[in-house]
This record gives sequence, C-alpha cells and structure tokens, in this order.
Amino acid sequence: MQVKAVLFDLFDTLLLVEGGNAFYTPCLQKLHKFLTENGVDAPFEKFMKVYFEVRDALYAEADKNLEEPHFNIRVWKTLQRLGYNYELSDDVVTKATECFAQEFMKYVSLDENAVDVLQWLHGKYKLGIVSNFAIPECIWKLLEKYNLKKFFDVIIISAEVNKRKPSPEIFQKTLKSLNVASHEAVFVGDTPSMDIEGAKNVGMKAILIIRRTSVTDTPKPTSATIKPDITVKSLKELPKIIGDC
Ligand SMILES: [Mg+2]
Repeated sequence: MQVKAVLFDLFDTLLLVEGGNAFYTPCLQKLHKFLTENGVDAPFEKFMKVYFEVRDALYAEADKNLEEPHFNIRVWKTLQRLGYNYELSDDVVTKATECFAQEFMKYVSLDENAVDVLQWLHGKYKLGIVSNFAIPECIWKLLEKYNLKKFFDVIIISAEVNKRKPSPEIFQKTLKSLNVASHEAVFVGDTPSMDIEGAKNVGMKAILIIRRTSVTDTPKPTSATIKPDITVKSLKELPKIIGDC
C-alpha cells in the first residue's frame, strides 16, 4: 500500500503545551480579569467553580455525542449561571474567550523537529492537521505564529466542524477533502483514545508519538484494544518509517 497522505494531531504532536494543565488557572485568571473590568461581579473562586461545573457538563455531553461546542458557549453559560444574560455573540463573551486564548498561547511552543520533518514530507505526501480544540481562532493564530500553514493541504479543527476525534466523521471529512482513501493515509498523534483509535477505526494507519519529558515520566498507556501500527519517540523518526506504513 502506498501512503499518499500524512495527517497530524496538533497539540503535543507538532506544538507542545507546557506542563500538562499548568496553563489553566492563569488562563482563567485572565478571562476573569477581563469580565471583572467589564461589569461582571463575581469573585474568582466562585467564577472558577461555576466555570468548571459548566465545562465538565459540556465535556460529559461531548463524550457521548463527540461534538465540540465553541469555547464561547461555556463562557456564555457560566455567565448565565452567575446571573448575566448576554447574547452568545456579545463582545463580552467573545473577548473573554480571546483573553483565555492569548494566555494559552504563551504555554505553547513548536516541537524542535516539526519544521524539518514537515519540510521533508511536503511535496512527497498530502499533509493535514486534525485537531480537537474549542477555540479555532487560537489555532489559526498559532499556525500563523510558527509559519506552519504553508505545509498543509487541509486543516480541520473540531470546533469548526462540531465533531471531535475519535468520531469517524472528522477523519472522513479530512480524507474526503484530500481525495485519498483511508488505507492511503497515516495519522500521527499522541493520544491513543482519540488519535489512534479514531484513525484506525476508519481504516487509516496510525503512529503514536510517546515523548518522555523527564526520566520519571511514564509513557501514556496505549489502548488495550486498538494499538498503533508504529510507536515513535520523536517526529524526526517519521521520514525513515513513513514509507513502511
Ligand atoms: Mg494531542
């Protein structure tokens, strides 16, 4: 089988997010500060409690229907629960999301091998990104910042298509827009339950990237039922193995 397309997950595959969830509290603090400056009167602790209740309820729903509501919806619902009835499209809501995203971007860096590997693959294969993320605007800014857009034939972000990995729909949509069959495509990602299972379930090959950031880190467990075809520790292994998939 000849590989015609290589698809990538984004976060912790091409772009690295610092320290797990270290970004979360500072991002919420920026969002809350913006709301406070714009007439919302709720102490941070209370705001955070309500935000997480709203977010977790949305996550539970997303686990079932594999949809991806935009981040604005959780801000809007949090504000409703705090007694503020804004429109979903209100500037207060969208700019609060922007504040969260701006802070989040500070915790993101480019994988040291990403550009070299993308340059090597570019022209030989069709390339794509399939990312689960509730703030698509933030991804577009990050791709701009690191000058990555030029490498890709398709970029699919879950909140723009309202489907998230591992739903078959998001993978199929990507394959369709590249005009390749699933067996002609390889998916590269770091999360077994989304990237590997999702890709394998639609008939793609899948490469799991497992990085060790320190000697005490344990690798992320792989799925008990669906295994990757190949496991790598770094993107720089891809040029050597991609033809063997
Ligand atoms: Mg990832």
